[in-house]
Amino acid sequence: MSPRPKRRRMLSEPPSVSGFVPESGDYSSASEDRIILLFEEYEAIKLTDYEGLTQLEASIRMCISRPTFTRIYESARKKVAKAFVENKRISIEGGHVEFKADWYRCECCGSVLKRKSGWKAGSCPVCGETQVVPLQQATNNFQKRGGGAGCGGRFHGGRGIGGFCICPKCDYKIVHSPGVPCGSVLCPHCDIRMVREDSEHYQFILNKRKK
Ligand SMILES: [Zn+2]
Ligand SMILES: [Zn+2]
Repeated sequence: MSPRPKRRRMLSEPPSVSGFVPESGDYSSASEDRIILLFEEYEAIKLTDYEGLTQLEASIRMCISRPTFTRIYESARKKVAKAFVENKRISIEGGHVEFKADWYRCECCGSVLKRKSGWKAGSCPVCGETQVVPLQQATNNFQKRGGGAGCGGRFHGGRGIGGFCICPKCDYKIVHSPGVPCGSVLCPHCDIRMVREDSEHYQFILNKRKK
């Protein structure tokens, strides 16, 4: 008999960042040294520690049983603690999840988009490359392949609290609100997550678009 298939965990929205890096330079940038926090583990911490739900409420939101939730939550806390104490990068990726909408990431330029009617999965509306994959399968390795990021294959975000969030495709801009990550804002025209205008990621995307 084959093992019972695992039920997918339901997530409302993907996280607005792909991971975290320690502030000091004394950490390994090797991809095997990072901590991989699964999407469902991120969600477990968000629902309880950030939104203040009980574990039971959170398990209902994610469409899983309470014991399964507890297991995911404990694993998540252990990973985050390990990253804090051992000064490791955290990469949020993978797991066994389903999002309420179809989310994709271009593994070439790092753009994150929500499926729009008329758009066929496969080619990136931003850079034109054909490495667009469902977010559940994305690997956070796009920075390395691009070659432009340097610094162990990661980007620095925007500077300071001012500036603009910009759509990587149509350049629609809004004033950045402090406390609201640009990555949590969708371009109203393109359904693509915005990026900080003065970030290395946006520079990288601009270079890709020129080609
Ligand atoms: Zn792309
Ligand atoms: Zn746009």
